Amino acid sequence: MNRTMQHDVSSTQELLLPPVGRRSFLKVVLQATAAIGLSATAGRQIAEAVERGVRPSVIWLHFQECTGCSESLLRTSHPDIAELILENISLDYHETLMAAAGVQAEEVLKQAMKANAGRYILVVEGSIPTKIDGQYMKIAGKTGIAMLKEVAESAALVVAIGSCASWGGIPSADPNPTGAVGVPEILKGKKVATLPGCPANPYILLGTVFQFAVMGTLPELDEKGRPKFAYGRTIHEHCPRRAHFDAGRFASKFGDQGHRLGYCLYKLGCKGPSTHANCSVSHFCEVVDAWPIGLGHPCFGCTEKDIAFRIPLFNTTNIDRPTPPDTYPEVNPVQGDISAWATGAAGLVAGALLGGSYMTAKYLNKQEGTPDAGNTPPPDAERKQEKKS
Ligand code: SF4
Repeated sequence: MNRTMQHDVSSTQELLLPPVGRRSFLKVVLQATAAIGLSATAGRQIAEAVERGVRPSVIWLHFQECTGCSESLLRTSHPDIAELILENISLDYHETLMAAAGVQAEEVLKQAMKANAGRYILVVEGSIPTKIDGQYMKIAGKTGIAMLKEVAESAALVVAIGSCASWGGIPSADPNPTGAVGVPEILKGKKVATLPGCPANPYILLGTVFQFAVMGTLPELDEKGRPKFAYGRTIHEHCPRRAHFDAGRFASKFGDQGHRLGYCLYKLGCKGPSTHANCSVSHFCEVVDAWPIGLGHPCFGCTEKDIAFRIPLFNTTNIDRPTPPDTYPEVNPVQGDISAWATGAAGLVAGALLGGSYMTAKYLNKQEGTPDAGNTPPPDAERKQEKKS
């Protein structure tokens, strides 16, 4: 970040990085967009637009959190997401990554907001304390509530990254001493894309931000503001341990034989059946199996407001959609609206036709002198004859 966040306010829009080769850049963006489920055409469109110089201005605010979402973003290694975003978005303000501090940092924020008013993307990490009018947190003399409202006012898009910013996360766990809430609670009436996760998968952020910057649209969101491309299905639906669940093979204790053999973790409290997320298909830091279930720990439901930090870690949860969803082909599909009478009549006609064909074939065979024409015994008679002999 220090490479991009300049101490001098006037140079906050400049990036002093060497250009990436066209081929490698396209490859990186195509990999990233494919990883989040966008089509190759959309990926190419985005890559070319970014290459043409479309660099969305991003202002990143931190409230109550552990900075895990930023850490996750920066640790992505293949493709090098940190390099990608530092070279292709204009990350104009990020408190934990910028070199500036104090008054200088506040000037950077003001400058970035002024220069890109109505066009910048506001990314928020962390929950916002609301008790005692938000006095639990102050930045530059302002409460988190005031700061969020002020910066969001001129933003083209607000993205809440991580579970804390989406709905409160860890700081909102009982007894929620600071009255922590997510961004949508503070910015009621303003569209907020929520990307929950503890941490959130950085590719989801990348896909959402680039689609908005290049196409001016947001991915389709669910009723909780989550992009459906990433949160449309439960972990359980595409879990690599699902075959064990279906076959009734479970780990019952950490370290038991079932656990060692990679059996289903449901009995250990896995919340995968009720958790909408794509961790099972988009692992962290591009390391194979770098996600809870991949490492032998039950999913704890971090993308769900009513599960993570609400239901105890090792308690079991309800199973959503235990039967195939409506979108699947039916097991016993209705074959049409033919009445019983019509079915019976059709049966009679078919029977008559078959009977007629049989008698005709028998007659013709006789005419042609076929050795056993018309004399082939039915299977039962054949068996009786075999017994006698
Ligand atoms: S219960 Fe958990 S571990 Fe088992 S198949 Fe479902 S998501 Fe995977």
